[in-house]
Amino acid sequence: MNTGVELIEAARSAGRTALDEPAGKRLLAAFGIKTPKSTLVSGVEGVAAALESMGLPVVVKVVSPDILHKSDAGGVKVNLKSGAEVEQAIAAMQAAPQIMAAQVDGYLIEEMAPPGQEMVIGAVADPQFGPLVMVGLGGIFVEVLADVAFRICPITRLDAQEMLTELKGAAILRGARGGKPVSQDAIVDALLKIGGDGGLLMRHAGDFKEADINPLIVSETEAVAVDARFILTER
Ligand code: ADP
Ligand code: MG
Repeated sequence: MNTGVELIEAARSAGRTALDEPAGKRLLAAFGIKTPKSTLVSGVEGVAAALESMGLPVVVKVVSPDILHKSDAGGVKVNLKSGAEVEQAIAAMQAAPQIMAAQVDGYLIEEMAPPGQEMVIGAVADPQFGPLVMVGLGGIFVEVLADVAFRICPITRLDAQEMLTELKGAAILRGARGGKPVSQDAIVDALLKIGGDGGLLMRHAGDFKEADINPLIVSETEAVAVDARFILTER
């Protein structure tokens, strides 16, 4: 099985302290986690060819080792419905002050994930316990309410299921307040692929100081990782 060792080695030998978003997503995909179809372009000139093999609408994101929060820097535009809109989005990013000041590796064009509940899956390496995995509902649930559940890896399917029922916002997953229920099985599967026996964190224990999928977008049928951040340990 391809476990993405070469992605990590490539980032390290380039002197990087983290995997970039395309590499992070390839690593997730190597562990069977769904990610959007995407292409990296260097500027507007690559857009037409990239869109030939993609369904609209798409998202455009700046890829830069200097930009941690792409939205804050004006580096994310969602729901773009034509090549012209994509080109405009890239041109606007190229003129944004924070992006002009950064080293830019390119612009990631990717398909929109089916709409759903945004979740966060996180990981930290504990010096004593090794990798810990975390799950929470997205947005204010993580940022303001700190509604998250943690476990030491490796986790079992039952652990993953219990992590979801522990969340104060668990009812939202079941479709509270007129929302649609989302696939809890899809979240559990993603948690196992990350934190289970033979999962990404166990296979790469020692490689990552910190990681997160923020967000994992979960619909009634599937869970798609639309953002990925993997911070490398120092060697
Ligand atoms: P950052 O966290 O660096 O600002 P993200 O890649 O997480 O950037 O994108 C910001 C937001 O845009 C996400 O939280 C999500 O709501 C939305 N988004 C990003 N990519 C997609 C996608 N492929 N499909 C649907 N929504 C997306
Ligand atoms: Mg994000």
